[in-house]
Amino acid sequence: MEKKEFISALTQAFNKNGLGKMLSLEKSEAFFALTERMLTENEKYNLTAITDVDMIILNHYVDCAALAARLPKGSKIIDVGCGAGFPTLPVAMLRPDVKITAVDSTEKRINYVKETAELLGLSNVEALTMRAEDGGRSPEFREKFDIATARAVANMRVLTELCLPFVKVGGEMLAMKGKNAEFELGEAKRAIATLGGRGATVESIVLKSASGEDFSHPLIRVSKKEKTPSAYPRPFAQISKKPL
Ligand code: SAM
Repeated sequence: MEKKEFISALTQAFNKNGLGKMLSLEKSEAFFALTERMLTENEKYNLTAITDVDMIILNHYVDCAALAARLPKGSKIIDVGCGAGFPTLPVAMLRPDVKITAVDSTEKRINYVKETAELLGLSNVEALTMRAEDGGRSPEFREKFDIATARAVANMRVLTELCLPFVKVGGEMLAMKGKNAEFELGEAKRAIATLGGRGATVESIVLKSASGEDFSHPLIRVSKKEKTPSAYPRPFAQISKKPL
C-alpha cells in the first residue's frame, strides 16, 4: 500500500472508532514506517499472522489505541508478553507522556521491539527479555508499575498471576481480551483476590471496521488494593498446572 493510501485508511479507522484526535501527520507516518518494517521483518521474526494492511490497522493499531486512550497521564506501564510490540509500540507512539516497559520471554522478539523503538525514535520504551514470573519476583520490577497490561498471552486465571505482582497498590491490571472476557473473569475471581486485586470489571470495547463489521475487544480492569503475598508469582509450571 502506498503511504498516502495507508494514511487515509489509518485516519478513517481512527475517526470511525472515536480516536481521531490521537493521530497527527507525524504519528501517521510513524505508523506507516512501523507497518513497512513489520511486514519486511515478518519472515525473520515471525511477528504477525495478520498481513492485510486494513486488518493490521484495525486489529493492531486501533485496538492498541483504544487502550492508549484509557491510560492515566504520565503513568508507568508494563506490557507482559509484548511479542512484536503490541500494545507497547502503538501506546508509546500515541502517548509520549507514558513510559512503557515491554517484556517477553523470547529474545528475538525483544530485539525486534528494541530496534523498532529506536527506528521510530521512541525514547519512552524499554524492552527486556524476561519471563513475567521472574520479573514479578524481582525487587526491581515487583509492585513498581501503575499499570500492567497484556494482550493474547494467557487466560485470565494464569495472566493475573503473571501481571498483578508488577502493579503498585492503587494501580490497575488492564487485560485486553476477546469475547470470553466475562467467563474468564468469573474463573479468575479467586486468583484476583489471592494476589491483592479487588473490584474487577469488564469494559466493553467494540472495534468498528471499514466494512461495517464490529469486533468485540473487551478490557478486563482489575484494581490492586493490597500487596501481593510473597509466595507469588510461582514458577510457571505451577501457575499453568495449578492456576489459582
Ligand atoms: N502481546 C502480543 C500481541 O498481542 O500481539 C503478543 C502475543 S503472543 C500470542 C504471546 C507472547 O507472550 C509471546 O511472544 C510469548 O513469548 C509471550 N509470553 C508467554 N508467556 C510468557 C511469560 N511467562 N513471560 C514472558 N513472556 C511470555
